[in-house]
Amino acid sequence: MTSLAQTSDELQDLYRELIIDHARSPRHFGKLPDATHTAEGINPLCGDKLKMYFRIDGDDRISDARFEGSGCAISVASASLLTDMVIGLHTDEALKYFSALVTRLAGVQSADNDNAGDGINLGKLRALEGVREFPSRVKCATLAWHALNSAIQRKSQPATTE
Ligand code: ZN
Repeated sequence: MTSLAQTSDELQDLYRELIIDHARSPRHFGKLPDATHTAEGINPLCGDKLKMYFRIDGDDRISDARFEGSGCAISVASASLLTDMVIGLHTDEALKYFSALVTRLAGVQSADNDNAGDGINLGKLRALEGVREFPSRVKCATLAWHALNSAIQRKSQPATTE
């Protein structure tokens, strides 16, 4: 019954609510007609299928992001959080979030450390950390991010978690 444990529980509840909120009311959902970069993310294990749209300006800044498709609550919430976070970022910064999140969810980084690789603070993305205990859901949580990576690298193949 330490106050630290209580704080941690409250944080978990907050994160759970954030996931549910983003899954129910995804931000930036729909097509982006003037997208410059797109990629599909497919997670056959769960049946998640998302299409990510990005408008990346000449200075490599992401000026808009949207997504469509269907998937489980975790994959949709993650895509929604992604679009919220990457708009306004330089593609290099967005890719840092991608690698930080993947590293963090793979369990390499300590959960007690706010900063994942490259000194990136995951912020709201920490809400996705709960999936670390469920390896099959890690793919749901990182699907949109793999698609972001593909879109920025301009890979023509759909991003898949397999
Ligand atoms: Zn899923």
